Amino acid sequence: MCDSGQCFQCDNLDCLDERLDKMHEECGVFGIYSLENNDVDVAGLTYYGLYALQHRGQESAGIAVSDRETIVFHKDMGLVPEIFDRVVLNHLKGTMAVGHVRYSTTGASRRENAQPIVVRSRNGQMALAHNGNIVNASILRDQMENNGTIFQTTNDTEVLINLITKHSISSDTLEDAIEKMMHDVKGSYGLILMTANKMLGIRDPFGIRPLCIGKTSTAYVLASESCALDAVNAEFIRDIEPGEIVIIENNEIRSIRPFNRKDTKLCIFEFVYFARPDSVIDGASVQQSRYEAGKRLAIEHPVDADVVIGVPDSGISAAIGFSKQTGIPYGEGIVKNKYVGRTFIQPSKGMREMAVRIKHNAIKKTIEGKRVVIIDDSIVRGTTTRRIVQILKKAGAKEVHMRVSSPPLKFPCYFGIDISSRTELVADRLSVDEIREMICADTLGYLSLEGLLQSPVGSKCGFCSACLDGKYPIDVPEEGDKFSCGC
Ligand code: AMP
Repeated sequence: MCDSGQCFQCDNLDCLDERLDKMHEECGVFGIYSLENNDVDVAGLTYYGLYALQHRGQESAGIAVSDRETIVFHKDMGLVPEIFDRVVLNHLKGTMAVGHVRYSTTGASRRENAQPIVVRSRNGQMALAHNGNIVNASILRDQMENNGTIFQTTNDTEVLINLITKHSISSDTLEDAIEKMMHDVKGSYGLILMTANKMLGIRDPFGIRPLCIGKTSTAYVLASESCALDAVNAEFIRDIEPGEIVIIENNEIRSIRPFNRKDTKLCIFEFVYFARPDSVIDGASVQQSRYEAGKRLAIEHPVDADVVIGVPDSGISAAIGFSKQTGIPYGEGIVKNKYVGRTFIQPSKGMREMAVRIKHNAIKKTIEGKRVVIIDDSIVRGTTTRRIVQILKKAGAKEVHMRVSSPPLKFPCYFGIDISSRTELVADRLSVDEIREMICADTLGYLSLEGLLQSPVGSKCGFCSACLDGKYPIDVPEEGDKFSCGC
């Protein structure tokens, strides 16, 4: 076992680069349809909705608005407040809006890939915002290109909108065309589609990605997470069901359900890591689920210790649950600098050393001389975890007991996380004890899959846990296959 000095010596400064460059959140979508005769600042509200969804993607953002005749839009690389100011928003006048925050997975990080994708077709103008990943996008794209279709971007969202346009030729309604598109594509999607005069919310048949509906006194709202409804003071109505198409038109809302699967598969990682703790997805509170996972972790992997701490942000609720279950006091032990992002510039080794230090820091008073249980939601490559254990030991922890509120992550995700190779996942290469050794912890315990799946209390759906058990709900490409993706 490493002692703290040795650990710190062996720290690899590329860790931070790696960490900043690895898995990130996926995308977030937001839509608002103002009821007739109401003067609603749809672009302004979309701005706030996207702000609340910023954790789901920090690479680019966009807003498209319709005045029920014409769609105009603005999108760019960067964070929501970097892209939009009052002047830009004032130019986005309309009565409906759709917005998107993006973090690309394998799709290129370029301005042209920013969403919503806005096109002009036989259906008139359309704007599409997509959260998820289409597994057979490259096959569909090849087929369409062979038939002369032109693509402006490299993302899979454009495949979806081209399919809808193609199917419109043989369909009576836009909804029929969407339904045909849904039969063609394999993958995960929470979509908001806006035409000049209607808005549609569409969730993939397995319900892998979340999408919900809310209402203010003057508008209907669609969003990836309920925290965005709260941000615009909308009342939560319900989640869009897996396979459901919600149509908001002529101030009314209706639904069609061309798919009626019993075996729904919401991504369990929404509860583990992605979603904000103040969101409720398919009936379960994200915060409550993490808290429950922490309690279950304590039962499965008890330990004698003086203090329980959590890795901010997503390890905190589980740490409080662990503390509640064991009676070991909860303390604030690690501070995370929220402003260190992917765009952080690290030109020289010296600067990178500095960056390692500014990302996380220990609160010495909580740690010094104590046997510390530290809870995090997941270990992916193990580099951040190792650094945090080192920081704790350097701050004087007598023992560091690592507890993880999800099982070992062993399989790549094809439905919206940018880990496409097993070799990147430490749990694929190393046993639990080897990981413990690598991160220099005194003990290490992971929550079981059973324990995790029981944590989203009140949930009304089944879960995709393919990254943990390799059971993909949809056939996925061979390892190493390239596939384009929207977010
Ligand atoms: P590491 O030790 O480098 O594997 O990093 C573990 C940390 O990664 C934990 O704090 C997790 O909260 C965090 N994490 C989990 N999933 C993701 C993701 N998709 N993107 C970025 N960080 C993640």
